[in-house]
Amino acid sequence: MRITGRTLIVASIAVLVTLTVGRAQEAVGPGAKRRVVFVAGKRSHGYGSHDHWPGSLLLSKWLNENHPQIEAVVVRDGWPADPKAFDGAAAIVIYADGGRAHPLVGHLPEMDAMMKRGVGLVLLHYAVEVEEATAGPQFLDWAGGYFKINWSVNPHWLMQAKSLPTHPITRGVSPFETDDEWYYHMQFREGMRGVVPILTALPPDSTLVRPDGTLARNEGPHENNPYVRAAVLERKEPQHVAWATERADGGRAFSFTGGHWHWNWGHPMQRKLVLNAIAWAAKAEVPAGGIETPRVTIEELEAPTAAWLGNPPAAGGGAAPAGQSPTRALMITRLAEWHRAFPPRK
Ligand SMILES: [Zn+2]
Repeated sequence: MRITGRTLIVASIAVLVTLTVGRAQEAVGPGAKRRVVFVAGKRSHGYGSHDHWPGSLLLSKWLNENHPQIEAVVVRDGWPADPKAFDGAAAIVIYADGGRAHPLVGHLPEMDAMMKRGVGLVLLHYAVEVEEATAGPQFLDWAGGYFKINWSVNPHWLMQAKSLPTHPITRGVSPFETDDEWYYHMQFREGMRGVVPILTALPPDSTLVRPDGTLARNEGPHENNPYVRAAVLERKEPQHVAWATERADGGRAFSFTGGHWHWNWGHPMQRKLVLNAIAWAAKAEVPAGGIETPRVTIEELEAPTAAWLGNPPAAGGGAAPAGQSPTRALMITRLAEWHRAFPPRK
């Protein structure tokens, strides 16, 4: 065969394609590490709430220490300046304020390219909200649902998930309840196509109305609206506050509307559910009993928070900074209760 320049170019392309495909297969092979990139939003709230960076640090640490297949890293203060931050990512976790401040605003094409490659997506708390005109259709496509302004609401309530579906995300998770800012009445895909509810509960009427029938919170973009009142007060429709979807491009997504209170990462079941979900989204194996983590202490929870705030808690168990809730003392009590109810296995 006569070797021409054209033959060489074709041969080189063939080698390149083989190498690239080989690397891609290696990246998703059974023994390969899955890289999980957390995008942690800026500080926006008070002590112990919307602790995006501290929460991401803890979740990534628990994954790295307790799941041998996962290599998790955290970038802070929003979308990373370095585009290489997402190289080799099997999944992206966004724990940040949403709406107009959502880290994805201004980066939809980059995200779309990653989604089309089958990269997993996990959206925590406010990161489930985006303006409909900005990225509503994209969020329906990527995640199966989102917080839609003037449709969804954001009250604090005791979410009681009395039963859980059979799914890799719920492995080793028992039904549980936590007090959090559980957004509900999400906008989902038409007919819930491809959406698997993971946490479902009927919110109490008190999230919308007082006993005398007056509005618990006035109508507003996040607070109250006639559609949610019809769904919950009249039709008594249970609400999905965490859900999963597998996209046609092969990517997986998980959305979780809790996560306002940093301290709830100390709840063994809330923590395990979200850790399982991140592993699932990254296409890592979720163990039969779920991802086990050792008992979490108040000191472990508050170590990254104190560093973030530059405001370490008082030595020996002082209260949280004035005016913030729940207090440190209450959290110590709650942690003890949770550990009694769900004793850690290690
Ligand atoms: Zn919140």
